[in-house]
Amino acid sequence: PLPQFEWDHSKETIAILGTGWGSTSLLKDLDTENYNVVLVSPRAYFLFTPLLPSSTVGTVELRSIMQPIRFLTRFKRREILYVEGNCTNIDPTKKYDYLVVGVGAENATFGIPGVKENACFLKEAWDARRIRTQLLDCLESATFPGQPESEINRLLHMVVVGGGPTGVEYAAELHDFLNDDIQTWYPDIAGKFKITLVEATPHVLGMFPKDLIQYTERTFAENKVEILNNTMVKEVHQKDILVLNKDKELETIPFGLLVWATGNTARPLVSDLISKLPKDLQNQRRGLVVDDWLAVKGSKGSIYALGDCSATKWAPTAQVASRQGAYLAEQFAQLYALKREKSKFVEEGNKPEEFVQKLQPFVYNHQGSLAYVGGDKAIADLPFGIHLSGAMTYLFWRSAYMSNLFSLRNRVLVGFDWLKAKTFGRDISRE
Ligand code: NAD
Repeated sequence: PLPQFEWDHSKETIAILGTGWGSTSLLKDLDTENYNVVLVSPRAYFLFTPLLPSSTVGTVELRSIMQPIRFLTRFKRREILYVEGNCTNIDPTKKYDYLVVGVGAENATFGIPGVKENACFLKEAWDARRIRTQLLDCLESATFPGQPESEINRLLHMVVVGGGPTGVEYAAELHDFLNDDIQTWYPDIAGKFKITLVEATPHVLGMFPKDLIQYTERTFAENKVEILNNTMVKEVHQKDILVLNKDKELETIPFGLLVWATGNTARPLVSDLISKLPKDLQNQRRGLVVDDWLAVKGSKGSIYALGDCSATKWAPTAQVASRQGAYLAEQFAQLYALKREKSKFVEEGNKPEEFVQKLQPFVYNHQGSLAYVGGDKAIADLPFGIHLSGAMTYLFWRSAYMSNLFSLRNRVLVGFDWLKAKTFGRDISRE
């Protein structure tokens, strides 16, 4: 058996918050021989978020894309102390050796009334579970005898707000569910099932190149997924949304299921920490401003931030967070080596201030962005201006996600889920 966690007072302590892309990537690579490592997160597992939209319709099962965090904390050279809990306050003046904040962000609602109460988000495992249940609920309720036509149409109207990659991929999965499964299991109502994607700006996927945006919009049109561009949601009610449409008129759109995917905003824990740091150094509302070594500005080098809770020049993506985590693990290894070198340097009679630290700053090489657009088609915006789209790109999308999954266990489970959905169709039983 592996040794259990034991506090070693001769070693420095790193406290890590979060079990998302950034923190998990750091934990994976961190050498726990050199530090006491304490991990605090309310979520005792890592969630492979790129396949979350797939899990809402049953293309993959939720548990196949989750990996219990103890698989990591228990099997390191020295165990990591994991505490399941929600960090509610960070005091930047108290002394811990190092704190790494990797708590991610929360869903942006822009203060639009009714969003929190009536819409489903698509960020966490429980969001996906809720969507799956509500979707199947709508289908079953719509087939219930004796309902007025307008109610059937409302129940079968799936509205997605936000045309970023999350909204687009979710609408794409819904389309596949309709095409592959609803047609088979609910032939009476399949023709009435409608998917609408609402986007405030003139086009979906604003960060993708023009040709790929056009390809996506064309594919959606072919798949009969309606995109309402230049349409801004103003209010959300229990059964409908109020929008300012492209003609600048207010319009009410009834829905059965509403998925809200309008991006991220800082968590209260992060906003609170920002307010405790010098205002001239922390001037971004969306997250913690970090230096080139990912140290939080104004924290005197004891707090690091990575992923969606930090404000950097890169997009808040899984890829960036994951690279930052790997970089921090390397930086902690270098710090450890440098500190040992320094104490030797001082022991030899030199002045400590003459020891110059030479840590490498963080560099990010973007590997490209992928998005699934439905009907076994995907788009890819790759380095050197390479733009791909279509069925082959979908295979590329699948293999890229497969190889990025956390463990062999996850790969096998997802592989089986894909095979299962292809062979028997998606599971439409409502739990
Ligand atoms: P996003 O911020 O990329 O997109 C949100 C969209 O919602 C925007 O297009 C915005 O115009 C729209 N919007 C905002 N308010 C609205 C309103 N009231 N009414 C209608 N539309 C409104 O959000 P996201 O898609 O959740 O992505 C978040 C981050 O994660 C991004 O950096 C994205 O690149 C990344 N991501 C990437 C992938 C991928 O590469 N496949 C998948 C998911 C997320």
